[in-house]
Amino acid sequence: MLRKCLYCGTDFETSNVNRLFCTPYCAVVSNNEQIEIKKKRNLQSRKCSFCNKEFKPTNQKHIYCSIKCRVKSYRKRRKNNIQQGDKSPC
Ligand SMILES: [Zn+2]
Ligand SMILES: [Zn+2]
Repeated sequence: MLRKCLYCGTDFETSNVNRLFCTPYCAVVSNNEQIEIKKKRNLQSRKCSFCNKEFKPTNQKHIYCSIKCRVKSYRKRRKNNIQQGDKSPC
């Protein structure tokens, strides 16, 4: 049967129904591109851990929309730690 490669669009002859690509190269490259697309999709929008605003992170590790939120969150956590420290008996 004649099929069209999902990646480069070349027609190729195969007896394997599951074969989607003309060459292993096309399969690998297409797979890699899909992984990249998925990665980018994951990075597209995320809610800030501090203000809950949606933002587009440039890094997988970013959890705050801005440096301000990161600093505020850090200060809040520090404040909480101090308050907890005050409650504990001396
Ligand atoms: Zn191909
Ligand atoms: Zn924020």
